[in-house]
Amino acid sequence: MARILSENPQGVMVMPKIAVLPGDGIGPEVMREALKVLEVVEKKTSVMFEKVFGHIGGEAIDLFGDPLPEETKKICLESDAILLGSVGGPKWDDLPPQKRPEIGGLLALRKMLNLYANIRPIKVYKSLVKISPLKDRIVEKGIDLVTVRELSGDAYYGQPRGLDEEKGFDTMVYDRKTVERIAKVAFELARNRRRRVTSVDKANVLYSSMLWRNVVKEVAKGYPDVELEHMYVDNAAMQLILRPYHFDVILTTNIFGDILSDETAALPGSLGLLPSASLGDKNLYEPAGGSAPDIAGKNIANPVAQILSLAMMLEISFNMVEVARKIEKAVELAIEEGYRTRDIAESEEKAISTSKMGDAICKKLEEIW
Ligand code: NAD
Repeated sequence: MARILSENPQGVMVMPKIAVLPGDGIGPEVMREALKVLEVVEKKTSVMFEKVFGHIGGEAIDLFGDPLPEETKKICLESDAILLGSVGGPKWDDLPPQKRPEIGGLLALRKMLNLYANIRPIKVYKSLVKISPLKDRIVEKGIDLVTVRELSGDAYYGQPRGLDEEKGFDTMVYDRKTVERIAKVAFELARNRRRRVTSVDKANVLYSSMLWRNVVKEVAKGYPDVELEHMYVDNAAMQLILRPYHFDVILTTNIFGDILSDETAALPGSLGLLPSASLGDKNLYEPAGGSAPDIAGKNIANPVAQILSLAMMLEISFNMVEVARKIEKAVELAIEEGYRTRDIAESEEKAISTSKMGDAICKKLEEIW
């Protein structure tokens, strides 16, 4: 018997609704595997999800001439959460900027959702120490961190900004409310982890960072159980290579987060392992990597990033914390037992397909439930 998760304000039971946007390149291939995992979750918990599929990116351009069709916007706004694959590819690279999958599709979607926080967890699995670009002796100490990047402020949006033949300029600005909001996200996350927040700024030089640091300190008073440290961004970039095991939750600004989260993305050795969540009017869950046109359509992409994005969705949007932990465990066990797609395999001969990897994770999930 199917169970439904929540009641609406009128007391009528409603099924949680997710917008599923597979997108371009490897998107549809890895999304298929994530939905297999969701099927296992539905079977085991009896919580049924309504999945509404939508078009985005290049495939939406091909079908409707629009990278973010009205129908897709509607589906997203009417859903409780959005699970996205990826967008883009060489086929659409020559279109005018606003018509391209990345700008007219993904960036437009992110803007519509008023996203303000990007959460990117990074974990280096013990059995994959060898594929990290860092030395074994560093990685073996355990890398398990999450970057919380502010998304709505900073030099990307501050006014005035401008460009002429002689001068280009941007305004780096933060206000109290924006910093408070993102800091709370980081402290709340830390409470479910190792309870350490490293706030990264450039408060020795930048006024916007001075405000950032003051407000983070104030927010920290509400979380006496979480340790707070401050680090300048230049030092943080270095410490991530020298002592990545030191970090638990990294809280940082839009521009510093943009750079540092890509630095952390290099640590596990494959983009195919990295999920992300962005919080806003509706939360968006998507792999950290792109549409990987070089391997698209070959059934060789790693579905783990998409499956872990699903786990983040279940935890953050639907409070299914235990279920998320189980999915993470199933992924880890499958990798430990040697199930690996090409990007993380010891050799091409030992690599398995996207669908076999998804099957292995589903099987593990069933076993450990
Ligand atoms: P990419 O992330 O798509 O690929 C970089 C490298 O990582 C490639 O070698 C790719 O094969 C590999 N990779 C990525 N995901 C993988 C997975 N799941 N399994 C195995 N290997 C994986 O970045 P790119 O090549 O710079 O961009 C390709 C396209 O994706 C471009 O059109 C770009 O604009 C777009 N893009 C989209 C997003 C998004 O949708 N969020 C993000 C970044 C790039």
